[in-house]
Amino acid sequence: MPTDYNYFEETRLGKPYDLALLRRMAPLARPHRRLLAWSVARVLLITLFDIDLPLLTKCADDRFIVPGRQETGAIPTAETAAGRRLGVDLSDPAAAAAAGRYPDLLQAEGAQASIAFEDLPKVAAGDLERLRRGDLAGLAWLTLAFVLMSLAGFALNFAQALVMEFMGQRIMHDLRMRLFSHIQNLALEFFTRNPVGRLVTRLTSDVQNMYELFTSFVSFLFKDLLLLIGIAAVMLALNWKLALVTFAVIPAVAAASIVFARRARDIFRILRVQVAEINSRFSETIGGMRVIQLFRREEANYRRFEALNHENYLAGMRQIRVLAVFMPLVEVLAVVAVALIIWYGGERVLDQTLSLGALVAFTAYIRMFFRPLRDLAEKYNILQNAMSSAERIFLVMDTTTMLPQPAVTAGGGPAIEAIDSVSFDRVDFAYVPGERVLKSVSFELRRGETLAVVGPTGAGKSTLVNLIPRLYDPTAGSVRINGCDLRTLPSGVFRDKMALVMQDPFLFSGSLRRNIFETDPGTEPGRVEAIIAAANLQALAARLPQGLDTPLGEGGALVSSGERQLISIARAFARNPQLILFDEATSYIDSQTEQLIQQALSRLMRHRTALVVAHRLSTVRHADRILVMNRGRIIESGSHPELMALKGFYYRLHQLHPNGS
Ligand code: ADP
Repeated sequence: MPTDYNYFEETRLGKPYDLALLRRMAPLARPHRRLLAWSVARVLLITLFDIDLPLLTKCADDRFIVPGRQETGAIPTAETAAGRRLGVDLSDPAAAAAAGRYPDLLQAEGAQASIAFEDLPKVAAGDLERLRRGDLAGLAWLTLAFVLMSLAGFALNFAQALVMEFMGQRIMHDLRMRLFSHIQNLALEFFTRNPVGRLVTRLTSDVQNMYELFTSFVSFLFKDLLLLIGIAAVMLALNWKLALVTFAVIPAVAAASIVFARRARDIFRILRVQVAEINSRFSETIGGMRVIQLFRREEANYRRFEALNHENYLAGMRQIRVLAVFMPLVEVLAVVAVALIIWYGGERVLDQTLSLGALVAFTAYIRMFFRPLRDLAEKYNILQNAMSSAERIFLVMDTTTMLPQPAVTAGGGPAIEAIDSVSFDRVDFAYVPGERVLKSVSFELRRGETLAVVGPTGAGKSTLVNLIPRLYDPTAGSVRINGCDLRTLPSGVFRDKMALVMQDPFLFSGSLRRNIFETDPGTEPGRVEAIIAAANLQALAARLPQGLDTPLGEGGALVSSGERQLISIARAFARNPQLILFDEATSYIDSQTEQLIQQALSRLMRHRTALVVAHRLSTVRHADRILVMNRGRIIESGSHPELMALKGFYYRLHQLHPNGS
């Protein structure tokens, strides 16, 4: 099994059922505790009804169908064995008339008469029915009770399933929302460490597994466990000796379950890891489709996926083999239990220490007893999955790589009306501990200024830009706005006042309009058109079949990278920010689009403060000041003529790339 996919998170996870985990799950069900309490009451009733049904058949057998037998546990005597008689109520005229026809068989005692069981075959069928009218009426009542209880059981079961399902759905809904909002607030660094596929699994199948835990496993614990205890109690009460003989199979069931649990646990875990790997590999394939197709890696990628899928298949087959042994094994043990009842119980019926009804009830009970045991394997699977899902969900929930937000004070914290200055004070930054990408960077950007940052690829320019909206926190030093450290300000306060136009802006799958304006295009008449015009997007809007309302496809697949920048500029216009952060695209953009971008950008920057990562001379020339970066440090700064006169790094960059850095 490959272990080098960075999935140690899944493989490392230990104990399948951890009490601490259960304790953490409890609060999820807490909002539904009243419903749960009702469920307990309902389950108690359902169990009572279920257990009563075989008792009713026993009653039908012993009281009305084959009455007069010894009750359970009584010691038979020769006299009682020979003297079993059927009572006849003579106050019923039809019964009295029938009795009159067999004076030598019936013994009358006042309003009651009786007839020996062995004489019953001598009575004609019609007369027998008249003599046994009382039994027939009793049977009818019992049948009615049986049907009514079954119906009530059905209604209760239905209500119970509905309520459990409702609770499961609510819990799943709440959990998913909690997880979503937690993930949404995590620092960006978290997302560079966790593949998308894995997070998708957290939010989908892991949450689904928890739901199944509530609907299937909890109801098993509640209902089936109660039923097992109830049945055992009734069996012991009916005939404790026969009950104990029957229970002789339980150690075998327990042994089978333990062996099964051990084997299943490993296989389930392997399967889970593999499913996570498959998800991850697949989402990586989708994300990297361009590279895969361009570099013709389809075959190699296919082989890798095939190997992964094959391992998953093998583990699946191993799981089936274990399951396929367990279920029939329990079935066989159930049959052994029935055989024991017939063998031992049958003998007791013959020697009159057990009624036939009790024997029938016992076989019914043992069937009921084994039904939940047979499903144990499935329930165990659910428990395993749910526990490891819970563990992984809590692992994400416990991740606190959120950028710490300052506690909001009563006055709402320091207010920022306008961004007067942005300053870096000896800022160090490392994505990976120890590998500094920014080294003691200090500069100040004042209101209304345009600052350009230039330097070779990897110098740390984009990183520097990302620190201004506090996408990351510096490792050392501080980033300040109006002299306030960003860490002391709620991020909404400054993010609202700035717009970041990234190199390759991300587009959502919604319409062009939604991508620019989110949900609020503003109420000013002509605002939308003005922004589209300012961002030079008229041509794109005219080209798209439904104009601004054309869905852009996932990741904005319909638009070119130049157009993406224009859309991103329009986004910035829509926010009307005070500070523009612009990361110029390094990729080749045709000169016409390039001109459109430059034009839109200069419109956007007019009367605004701007920091631009510049690659093109035209952009750099317009800047008030230029910072030259190399290997994480600012090595030169000044205006274009100053830097050219310096004949240093900047000058050499220009000699090399007269049209861009
Ligand atoms: P520039 O914009 O000047 O090309 P960047 O700021 O993008 O440079 O990158 C500076 C360094 O930081 C590079 O060595 C790059 O590999 C590294 N880097 C950038 N982003 C990340 C990240 N998310 N995780 C780890 N390293 C990163």
